[in-house]
Amino acid sequence: MLEKIEILKTGKAKALYTTSDPSKLIMEYRDDTSAFDGKKIEQLAGKGTVNNRFNGHIMDHLQSKGVDNHHIEATAPNESIVMSLDMFPIECVVRNFAAGSICKRLGLEEAMVMEPPIFEFFYKDDSLGDPLINDCHITAFGWANEDDIEVMKELTLKTNDILVTLFDSADLILVDFKLEFGKSDGKIYLGDEFTPDGCRVWDKETKKKLDKDRFRLGLGDVVESYQEIAHRLGINLT
Ligand code: ADP
Ligand code: UDP
Repeated sequence: MLEKIEILKTGKAKALYTTSDPSKLIMEYRDDTSAFDGKKIEQLAGKGTVNNRFNGHIMDHLQSKGVDNHHIEATAPNESIVMSLDMFPIECVVRNFAAGSICKRLGLEEAMVMEPPIFEFFYKDDSLGDPLINDCHITAFGWANEDDIEVMKELTLKTNDILVTLFDSADLILVDFKLEFGKSDGKIYLGDEFTPDGCRVWDKETKKKLDKDRFRLGLGDVVESYQEIAHRLGINLT
């Protein structure tokens, strides 16, 4: 079995370890939960395990629908083997309904329908508050080339189509989410994670928030809500 050798990167919610295979890393999902660019941080028991199981299920589903991604297999309740990627310092966000930063930025009322879905790029830099950027910033500053930009947009919108359908079948609304991509041998793969930490999910009937907004807004039952989404999607958390 692949063993962890040393820490490569420590982020706000996960850690990445090198392994004896240079093309593979072990991603550890911690219980740390952060919001507001790392200004609010708490430990939520069991979140690492829920997110690792959740992510594995979603990545396998996306792979089966043709979205190539870095996930290989889980090796422990809160750890998975992933492909080592050269990550773009970019966050790709899609919005089906208005929530979060777009409401503040454009003065929109929460839950307004975004039709067609809105795609946005953000520059991944906590010290700058992850600012909104566009294609020109990305090419001018050499963060990715025009072909990479097209592939990231296409894969993000394809992921949205696949997951809106999946969540809808569980009476859940996929409001918005964030993806990160990276390259290996010149090919772009979906990396990082898809978990309730990086998306907004509401109950279709009651519009109850079931995602990280429960932590951001101090609504409580954060891990329980993540478990409820997983349960409704048929994800095994053990
Ligand atoms: P943060 O929010 O601080 O990025 P994370 O805890 O999510 O915190 O950190 C995970 C880090 O690992 C991020 O920098 C992410 O870009 C990076 N990453 C995700 N997937 C891969 C991968 N397959 N190969 C290399 N780095 C990755
Ligand atoms: N998001 C994320 N990481 C970030 C910024 C945003 O996972 O650093 C996710 C967030 O959970 C939401 C979507 O991307 O599902 C859109 O976030 P928004 O721009 O509204 O920012 P927020 O107000 O949530 O910080």
